[in-house]
Amino acid sequence: MPRQDQLTLRLPSPVQRLNDERFKPSGIELFLKRDDLINPEIPGNKWRKLVYNLAAAQKEQHSTLLTFGGAYSNHIRATAAAGYYHGMTTIGVIRGEEHKPLNDSLQQAVNYGMRLVYIDRTTYRHKTDLAFINGLHEKFGDFYLLPEGGSNSLAVRGCAEIVAELDEPFDVIASACGTGATLAGIASALSPHQRALGFSALKGGTFLNDAVSAFHDRSLSNWSIETRYHFGGFARRTPRLDAFIADFYARHEIALEWVYVAKMMYGLFDLAAQGSLPAGSRVLAVVTG
Ligand SMILES: *Cc1c(COP(=O)(O)O)cnc(C)c1O
Repeated sequence: MPRQDQLTLRLPSPVQRLNDERFKPSGIELFLKRDDLINPEIPGNKWRKLVYNLAAAQKEQHSTLLTFGGAYSNHIRATAAAGYYHGMTTIGVIRGEEHKPLNDSLQQAVNYGMRLVYIDRTTYRHKTDLAFINGLHEKFGDFYLLPEGGSNSLAVRGCAEIVAELDEPFDVIASACGTGATLAGIASALSPHQRALGFSALKGGTFLNDAVSAFHDRSLSNWSIETRYHFGGFARRTPRLDAFIADFYARHEIALEWVYVAKMMYGLFDLAAQGSLPAGSRVLAVVTG
């Protein structure tokens, strides 16, 4: 049974022009696609990645969602919230040991009714093995399996709607990358003259080139990934990044999410300063969370 308290979604997510003098010399126009405003409980692209999976789970008459993530995973929390609002049981398989008190992200997941199960890091690496998944079924019965980060072909389809929602032309569409599913979805929906530009939030992000390709059922050459703006690695930050976030807030009153979005934004400003973005182009940066 769906809950009485309904999920309110702001779709299509708003597009806003960002007036920033640093883009003036190149004549680049920067716009933000505010996916962070879709819903306060299910951040940005996590909603897009879940929506077709939820429909599939319900169509296949599953009443439980099971998924994987680290202790700070936005996807875990988003799945817990989505399950709550869709009247589905949720199980989060968490990498590593339990730490009490729970961090905010996991505590919120529990508040939405998610059952947390911890597995050690070695076992976690085998989370896609059939034997391991069969073991989970023996323990938990029937469930709809969402992969880590919620990234699968239905998630890619959901992210393609970022582009489908646009009613103005853009030359470049930028997004931060974790698993690459969001970028894959964007690239799959572009018109011939448009390009998708990803920014890896992880160190060693070149693996994302294979990951994004694997999400496509045909080969696309309309996207690329910047791997230099990881600021030390996933969920790491530096004083330089923090200063950029503070300055951005002072100029625009937008608090950039630091794990992904701020790294993309920093990268865009840096590329613009280097003259690496086409002069006079219209750039849309997706604020994924
Ligand atoms: C999860 C997340 C991403 C990464 O999306 P992928 O599809 O895994 O590349 C980007 N931004 C935010 C804010 C996220 O929470």
